[in-house]
Amino acid sequence: MRTRFVADVSRPVPFNVYTLSAPYRVVVDLPAVKVRLPGGGGRGLVEAYSHGATGEGRSRIVIRVSGPVLVERSVMERRRGRTAQLVLDLAETDPATFLDRQRAQMARGAAMWSASTVRAAPVAPSRQGSSKPVIVIDPGHGGFDSGAIAPDRTEEKGLVLAFARALAKRLAAKGRYRVLMTRESDHFVSLDGRRMFAMENHAQLFVSIHADLLPRRYASVRGTTVYTGSRKASDAVARLIAKSENQADILAGAEFHVDEKLRLVPAEMVATSKRVVPAWLDELVMRETKIRSREFAEVLLDHLKPATRLNANPHRFAAFRVLKIPIPAVLIELGYLSNAQDRRHLSSKGWRSKASRAVASAIDRYFNERLFRPPFLPAAVASTGR
Ligand SMILES: [Zn+2]
Repeated sequence: MRTRFVADVSRPVPFNVYTLSAPYRVVVDLPAVKVRLPGGGGRGLVEAYSHGATGEGRSRIVIRVSGPVLVERSVMERRRGRTAQLVLDLAETDPATFLDRQRAQMARGAAMWSASTVRAAPVAPSRQGSSKPVIVIDPGHGGFDSGAIAPDRTEEKGLVLAFARALAKRLAAKGRYRVLMTRESDHFVSLDGRRMFAMENHAQLFVSIHADLLPRRYASVRGTTVYTGSRKASDAVARLIAKSENQADILAGAEFHVDEKLRLVPAEMVATSKRVVPAWLDELVMRETKIRSREFAEVLLDHLKPATRLNANPHRFAAFRVLKIPIPAVLIELGYLSNAQDRRHLSSKGWRSKASRAVASAIDRYFNERLFRPPFLPAAVASTGR
C-alpha cells in the first residue's frame, strides 16, 4: 500500500524527515512556519497527524502510521504566491527494512538529531533577594502534542492552559508568591524540560494540570482527581493515566538518544545517566517530598470538595515521570474528557473560575500552615542535575 501525505506550508523551507518506531511515526522537523494539515483525518497508511512548535523558531509534524513505512519521496514544492507544499510518499514495508533504513538515516543525520531535540523551557530571570515562595504551574501537553481529544474535538492542551492561566493570575494577585508557568502558550515542552524548569527555578511547589481521556470502559469515571507520585500505582486507572502521560515525549519524537552504534534509544533507557537527584540523597529527599506532596494533595482536596465534583477515589498515586522531582508536586486531573458532564465543566468559564479559586486558596493554606517547612533541601542540591 502507498499513501501520499500533502501539507500546505506558508513558505518553502528546509526540512528533515525521519521515522520512529513503537509506535510507528514519520516526523518532519521544520522552521517555525504556518502549516495546514490535510483535512478529514487518517487515510491509507496514515492514522493521525499534528503540527506544532517545538521551541523558538522550530516546529514539527508528527504523523502516526499504521505500521513500518518507507518515505519513498519527500519534497517541498514551490507554489504560486510564495507558498509551498510538503509532499511525502509513504510505502508499506516490513519491520527489517524499516530498521535498516532507519539506521542509514541516522548515520547520515546523527548530528542533526541532537540539534532537533526539544529544548527545555528557559529559566525565568532570577530575582535576587526575593524570598517569595516559587510556585511552578505546569499545563500539560502543547504544540503538536494536543493531549487527549474529546469526541467533540475539544483538546486537552487548550483546556489545561486556560485553567493554568486563571490559576496563575489568581496566585500572582495575592502578591506573596512568585508564579511561573512551564509554558504560557501553545508549544511543546518535554517532560524533562518541565522538571528541569522547576528545579532550576527552585520551585517550592509544582502543580501539573491535565484533563485526560480514559478508554470507553471507564466512561463513567468522572470528577477531579489529585495524583501524587509513587513507584507503585494505587489502581488501574492511575496506572493507565501515568502510562499515557509518560509517553508524551516518546510520542512526540522528542526524547531519544543516539547510541554508539547509531541506534535510537528511548530516553527512559538512558535515564540513569541523567539523574535529577544525586543517588545518596535520592531516597531521603524523595521520601520527604512524597510526604509533603501527599499533605498538599489532602489540603487541595479539602478545598476542591465544595467547589467541584470530586472523583469517587480522589487521591490516587502512580509513577508520573513529570512528578519525579525533589519538590512537593501534584498532578491535577481536572476531569476526564471521556465523560460528558466533566467535558461541560471543563469548558465552562464559571467552573474554571470556581475551581481555580479553590486551588489557590489550598495553596495559601498549605503555605500558611507551614506544612511546607523551608528549606528542606540544601541550595546546592536543588540546582544539581545538569
Ligand atoms: Zn494529559
